[in-house]
Amino acid sequence: MAVPQNKVTRSRRNMRRAHDALVAGNPAECPNCGELKRPHHVCAVCGHYDDREVVAQADEIDLDDEDAA
Ligand SMILES: [Zn+2]
Repeated sequence: MAVPQNKVTRSRRNMRRAHDALVAGNPAECPNCGELKRPHHVCAVCGHYDDREVVAQADEIDLDDEDAA
């Protein structure tokens, strides 16, 4: 098993971890529904991107439709 050759001091360990902080996202407002969405991503609420609907929403698809079977 590999063993560290030198002790990592508290100082050096903390200096390494100085860049580990999580950063908050940068949500943008959906131009269609106004909900916050990730930039450059399809809106998770309404399925629109660039003022077009690109993903059909679940409430518009009837999975329990007996006529389809
Ligand atoms: Zn939307």
